Amino acid sequence: MPDIAYLNGRFMPLEQASVSIEDRGVQFGDGVYEVIRTYGGKPFELEAHLRRLDRSAKAIALANPHELREWVEIVNEAIRQAAYPESKIYIQITRGVAPRDHAFPTGVRPTTILTLREMRPLDPSLQGSGVAVITMEDVRWGRCDIKSINLLPNVLARQRAWDAGAFEALFVRDGVVTEGAVSNVMMVSRRRLATAAEGPTILSGVTRQLILALARRDGMALEERPVRLEELRRADEVFLTGTTLEVLPVIRVDGRPVGSGRPGPTATHLLSLFRQLTV
Ligand code: PLP
Repeated sequence: MPDIAYLNGRFMPLEQASVSIEDRGVQFGDGVYEVIRTYGGKPFELEAHLRRLDRSAKAIALANPHELREWVEIVNEAIRQAAYPESKIYIQITRGVAPRDHAFPTGVRPTTILTLREMRPLDPSLQGSGVAVITMEDVRWGRCDIKSINLLPNVLARQRAWDAGAFEALFVRDGVVTEGAVSNVMMVSRRRLATAAEGPTILSGVTRQLILALARRDGMALEERPVRLEELRRADEVFLTGTTLEVLPVIRVDGRPVGSGRPGPTATHLLSLFRQLTV
């Protein structure tokens, strides 16, 4: 079977799936999404992703078309049909198809989309070498905790990073580092780990939660609090977390080296603890 799509209740080869040009996802970016990957062919932290999907949908007054149990079946069926060694799964729910008008349409069912492609893991040498990041002003809206399909600022930020020869862009709001365009960010200073607290300025990553739990269990001192850009620049270590990035050391911020300029021991240790969860 090729790449798979599930669209409004039906599985099909991905290239056969299409939505209306009047879909509110197309017209307004009126929808929410999730990204899930497999390890060993099994969806990783599926329930956490599905709970966040439900929370995002509720936050924009969108009815989730499936209960968690149904989503679990749909995701597993897509994985079974595609039969890839590892899969990357996108779920999107939009407010549905209606003539263009900003206010919610009535009597319209949401569009339910799942796409599944083979998961090509991040080049592992990046975790060994670390990556460069740039920083830029966080011009996003006030509800970054909702995993909305409105990703234009993230798209522009990531492109700016790539154009600058960097891997990721970190958003800075009023001098405080919120998160990356596609990741959460953590720093280590004098053996204390610090990262932005949950709230409207960040998407609370499933990976972020896992890494914080692992760090806590490991007895590490950690703080969820605003991290200022000057602190981040002086940190001993900086690293990114995310579903596809896992734990990714940052070795340069805006062209200046972080700590020793090489991946630090905390990121390396947390990555090895994280890897134990994925086997
Ligand atoms: N922050 C943003 C803006 C993201 O897009 C992502 C992942 O897509 C994350 C954080 C990390 O979230 P997760 O660990 O759930 O993949």
